[in-house]
Amino acid sequence: MATGARMHELMAELFPICRSITGDGVRQTLRIVGERVPLELREVPSGTEVLDWTVPDEWNIDDAYVALDGTRLIDFRDSNLHVVSYSEPVHARMPLDELRPHLHAHAERSDWIPYRTSYYTRTWGFCLARETLDRLDGGEYEVHVDSRLEPGSLTYGEVVIPGERDEEFLVTTHVCHPSLANDNLSGIAVLAELASALAGRRNRHTFRLLFIPGTIGSLTWLATREDVLPRIVGGLVIACVGDAAPLTYKRSRRNEARIDRAAEYVLAAREDARVTDFVPWGWDERQFNSPGFDLQVGCLSRSREGEFPEYHSSADNLDLVRPEQLEGALDAVLEILDAFDADRRYVNLSPRGEPQLGRRGLYPQTGGALAQDEQLAMLWVLNQSDGEHSLLDVAARSGLSLDLVRTAADRLHDAQLLGEAP
Ligand code: ZN
Repeated sequence: MATGARMHELMAELFPICRSITGDGVRQTLRIVGERVPLELREVPSGTEVLDWTVPDEWNIDDAYVALDGTRLIDFRDSNLHVVSYSEPVHARMPLDELRPHLHAHAERSDWIPYRTSYYTRTWGFCLARETLDRLDGGEYEVHVDSRLEPGSLTYGEVVIPGERDEEFLVTTHVCHPSLANDNLSGIAVLAELASALAGRRNRHTFRLLFIPGTIGSLTWLATREDVLPRIVGGLVIACVGDAAPLTYKRSRRNEARIDRAAEYVLAAREDARVTDFVPWGWDERQFNSPGFDLQVGCLSRSREGEFPEYHSSADNLDLVRPEQLEGALDAVLEILDAFDADRRYVNLSPRGEPQLGRRGLYPQTGGALAQDEQLAMLWVLNQSDGEHSLLDVAARSGLSLDLVRTAADRLHDAQLLGEAP
C-alpha cells in the first residue's frame, strides 16, 4: 500500500476514539500505534508536580446525553465532540434556562459541532450544532454525563531509534484530541510512518519520537526527563499536516538554529511553502522553546493552529485530510532531517592546491552529466571545507543536490582528504 494511503488508514482506525489529555482514549490510541512501531508507553501519576503545573486527575467517559421525554437530543454515541472534554459527571433533570449555559454551538457554522475542553476548571458541558440548539424549547431535560475524574495517570508514548551518536533529535506530536483528523491524527500518522522509515536506515543522530498530550504532556516530559535534555541538538513539532494548505515551517525561538537552517533549505525548494518567525503560540514548541530549556525546536504544519475554518470542529474530519498531503509532509520531514544531518562542517586535510583525485580512485569511471556533477561536488566540498562552511552551505552555494554533496563528503572522508571539524 502506498505510504499516504497507509497513514490515512491509520487515521481512520484512530478517528472514533475519545481522546483527551489523560485516560483510556490515549492509551488505546498509543496501543494501536504500538502495533506498528516499538512504542513505549509511559505513565506519570496524577498529582505529580511538573514544573509550574500538576498532572491532573485522569478523565474517562462511557456515555453522555441530553434527552427529552426519553429521546436523546444530544448523544455522545453519535460524536464524542458532543461532550466538553473533562466534563465532570452529572445526572440531573433541568429546564432549558438552567441547561442553556452548558450548551456550546459553533460561532460561524450552524451545522458544525465545536470542540471544547475544560481541563482545569471543573464543570460540564455539551457541544452541538446551532441548528439543533435553536430547536430546543420548553420541557424538563434529562442530563447525563457518565464520566470519571479520579487519580490515575498521564500517558505518553516514546520511541527511541538509536543512531551512531548519542546526540538526539526530537520529533513530537500531540495526541489529546478526540475525533478530529487534521489536528492531532495527521501528526500521529506521520510520526508513526516516520518511525518505521528511520528504523529502516542508518542514522547519525539518535531520534526520539514523542506522542504526547498537548502542553501538559510536553511539560511532564521536560520535567521528568532532565537526563535526556543535554543530548538534544534540535527538534520538530509536527501537527496539522494533512490538509491542503502549503507546508509551513515556524522557526525556533533562536531563529537561526541548526533546525531552522535545515528546514528553510528544504522548504525553499518547494514553490508554495512558507517559513514564519517564532511566536510563543501554537503547540508544544512553546514549552520546548521556553527560555529555561531553549531546545531549538521548530514546528512543521500545513495550516497553522486556528488558520483553517474547520479547526476545532466536527468538520475537521477524515475528508479534510488527503493521503498525498500526508505523504508530502512525511517526505519534507525526512528531507529536513537529512539537511539537519548535512549541516556539519569539515576541514580539507590537503588544502594547498587540489589533491589528486585520480590517484585515489575518486575520478568517476564513467562519463556523462551525473559523473560530471559527482566530480564537481567533490571539488566544491574540498574547496569549501575550511571548517566554516557546512555541507548544507555547499549544497546551497553550488546548486548541487544535498545527496550528491553528502556522498562526495563521505568518499573524501573515506579517502582521508577530509576531517570532521570540531
Ligand atoms: Zn487543537
